[in-house]
Amino acid sequence: MRPRLMSELVDLMQPAPVELFGEDATVGPDVVIDNREATEGCLFVAIPGERVDGHAFAGAAVEAGARGIIGMYSTEADVPHLLAEDSVTALSWLARGLVREARARGMISIGVTGSSGKTSTKDLMAQVFEAAGPTVAPVGSQNNEVGVPLTACRIDDETAYLVSEMGARGIGHISWLTSLVGLDVGVCLNVGRAHVGEFGGVEATAKAKSEIVADLSSEGWAVLNANDPAVAAMRERTSARVAWFGEGDLPPGDLRVSARDVTLNGLSQASFELVVSDDDGDRTARVELSVIGRHQVMNALAAAAAAVAVGLDVESVASSLSGATQRSSWRMELLQRHDGVLVLNDAYNANPDSMEVGLRTAVELGLSTRAEHPSGRVIAVLGDMLELGPLTEESHVELGRLAADMGVAEVIAVGENASSIVAGATAEGLAARVSDRDSIASSLNLSPGDVVLIKGSRGVGLETVAAELVALD
Ligand code: ATP
Ligand code: MG
Repeated sequence: MRPRLMSELVDLMQPAPVELFGEDATVGPDVVIDNREATEGCLFVAIPGERVDGHAFAGAAVEAGARGIIGMYSTEADVPHLLAEDSVTALSWLARGLVREARARGMISIGVTGSSGKTSTKDLMAQVFEAAGPTVAPVGSQNNEVGVPLTACRIDDETAYLVSEMGARGIGHISWLTSLVGLDVGVCLNVGRAHVGEFGGVEATAKAKSEIVADLSSEGWAVLNANDPAVAAMRERTSARVAWFGEGDLPPGDLRVSARDVTLNGLSQASFELVVSDDDGDRTARVELSVIGRHQVMNALAAAAAAVAVGLDVESVASSLSGATQRSSWRMELLQRHDGVLVLNDAYNANPDSMEVGLRTAVELGLSTRAEHPSGRVIAVLGDMLELGPLTEESHVELGRLAADMGVAEVIAVGENASSIVAGATAEGLAARVSDRDSIASSLNLSPGDVVLIKGSRGVGLETVAAELVALD
């Protein structure tokens, strides 16, 4: 944010009950919640966590440059304090005030949700909007009640676009986030089985995700996946204009964005003709993605639909998409070893849908290496898919089966549900074994042309296997 007086922040946060203690001072441009990230002049938000209380670090933050504090009680730090009943809520009110002010001068606010692909799509969107004007987008996967407002606090007087990633773990979560960043464009990618254990079923997940379009005005845009019935049904929950994205024939709508003639190159990078249709007719432009995997076509279409909806030019959208890279690590990171082994590091997260995407991408890579190395194999190192509740066991058995059906040569399973994965795989006649994470890399006997997929939920930490495999090169 532009540096401002603490008293101005109180005004911005209205009608929220916050009170300023101490002599007024200017804070900014940065707003931080971690004293190790404090910069000169910054505003430090002291949040009580499960293990440590941020208030205890207020002094350290001030030593590192903080000039004001948002918190729940006074600390010894000799700078003005903005006190509220809850620090995260106060941070949210600040974000709400900053966004309200910026939208009044024309900033456009875009939010993206979905079960899989939010961060990948947000990264594509950020690069598309950056080509059109100053853009603020989250670093990594900052998609919750802290990350969304913290990201929004980075907007300044020049920001033309704010891109927010929105995750939901229950009903009302996304509504809260949209009440802060007041969306002009709400994008829903898909409704799948991520976190179904917490939601209690796919229908509840769909309801929670539909909040991304529920509060849009009639001037806004609901950007919806026409190929996912649960997402397409969200048109009933919005009074905004609808921009459909998807493949094949799309339903009538204010805007339709699709892909024609999709092909994949040897590195699983997709090329296609971007087709945009509205009242003015059809426009097309060629896209040659640099990011990896067939699934990125849908993510790119979602980004294109959001951008074209708010007036960006189709040609420049296509060219930004082609140049866009995967900014957030451990998602479909393709590591090419000198010996011709490909390591697909997709260890950031996993649910049944993204596992399928990961397996498919690995198998596609395997098909292309086989031209040069006929004996090349696809080996899948698969970890737990967490947060699936009662669907946990059957989902892991199903994953093992899926790996077999897709033509994987060997499965190595890690984690609490490893034996379920192995049971599913061996039932289909596939070679599979349980392993502990740290002995996988040294146990693999790899040859040129082999493709190793590494994927599991964050808690399994499989990225270390990818790092070891590359170190063994
Ligand atoms: P999180 O809920 O952890 O924030 P996310 O929705 O941000 O996840 P990404 O980090 O973008 O998702 O992607 C995670 C993985 O999901 C990717 O590495 C890929 O395997 C898979 N994925 C990405 N896009 C899609 C998509 N459109 N459909 C299905 N799976 C996808
Ligand atoms: Mg994410």
